[in-house]
Amino acid sequence: MGEILATLCELKNQGRRLVGCFPLYPPLELLHSFGLTPVTLWGLSSEVTDLTKSDRHLQNYTCHVARCLTEFVLGDAHALLDALFMYNACDTLRNLPEIIEEGLKEEGARLLPMFRLHVPAVAKERTGVRAYLKDRITSMVCDLEEFTGRPFSPETFLASIDLYRIQRELCAEIEDAACRGTVPFPTFVRILQLAHFLPVEAHIELLDAEIPEEDDLPPHDLRHPGVMVSGILPPPRQLIETMEASGLRVVANDIASLKRSLGYNPAPTADPGEYYCDFYLNHYPCSTLLASSDRRIETIRRAVHDSSAEGLIFFGEKFCEYEYFEFPHLGGMLRAQGTQTLFLELTGQTGEGLDAPRNRMEAFAEMLKGQAGS
Ligand code: SF4
Repeated sequence: MGEILATLCELKNQGRRLVGCFPLYPPLELLHSFGLTPVTLWGLSSEVTDLTKSDRHLQNYTCHVARCLTEFVLGDAHALLDALFMYNACDTLRNLPEIIEEGLKEEGARLLPMFRLHVPAVAKERTGVRAYLKDRITSMVCDLEEFTGRPFSPETFLASIDLYRIQRELCAEIEDAACRGTVPFPTFVRILQLAHFLPVEAHIELLDAEIPEEDDLPPHDLRHPGVMVSGILPPPRQLIETMEASGLRVVANDIASLKRSLGYNPAPTADPGEYYCDFYLNHYPCSTLLASSDRRIETIRRAVHDSSAEGLIFFGEKFCEYEYFEFPHLGGMLRAQGTQTLFLELTGQTGEGLDAPRNRMEAFAEMLKGQAGS
């Protein structure tokens, strides 16, 4: 049994009601305030050894993220979940709830209640955007009241907001340490990925335990080239090892399951509609949140500048149209300002399948070192 499935089993044995959420930015505070435990079903490739069930329902040109998610839910996970939550993002995900439902029927499994939210995919200044989103949130609150049999509580919602605020602040702290080099980058990645599967209270305890009071390690050697990393998921362990062995230091990150997930704390309010308008419309920009995508170029340009990154490594999730549409423009903008870029395409490959990206990363590191020495 994989580590994530074992964690879900343990949570279930504690009597928790688990809501499997996708994609990466669900309304965690709201679900938590109803006594539910949200788990974000993302980055599951380590749990999935084959894609047999998923392949019966999804084309093989679907991204690896969605294929693993589908396999995971149709496999052992559905028996542990009490419900699913999804909001709209890319075309791949748009009908995934129905596909999963049909898959569960085919497996003869219990069907899972589904909560849905539609996040407007237009600029936040457009007329009606806020009113529409608030209306969708109100409707979801009603669905949750019916599902849990308890009324919405403004006090409990505020308490949940406070917990997630603490979690995001601690995540920012450990990210800062990782970018300085005083926490190893692989440790930072592992701990932040656990945010998606651990109850928020347990994750806060973990962060408290892992953030060193004093620096464990000396800061980065500034003679090594600094890079920013981007993509939907962090790179696999072998690529992180190659990055470190090649003498690259990660000085900024824009990974969707790390920085983009945990990079924005909305102002507290007891009104869920107001809170999630702020959350979704002012979110750390992500290619999958269309309303925010115009702000991405400037956000990345500023992060590269502020961190003095000499290069950007983009770990592209094969078949992710949103990320792939953006990168040519983003890469062009960065190269025009003298920042080198490397685009690596990943699709869940392991072992020798990673040899080509490892070689390209080593060559990129050599090029950055040569540039620094010239
Ligand atoms: S990785 Fe891209 S294509 Fe795949 S589910 Fe996420 S947004 Fe959609």
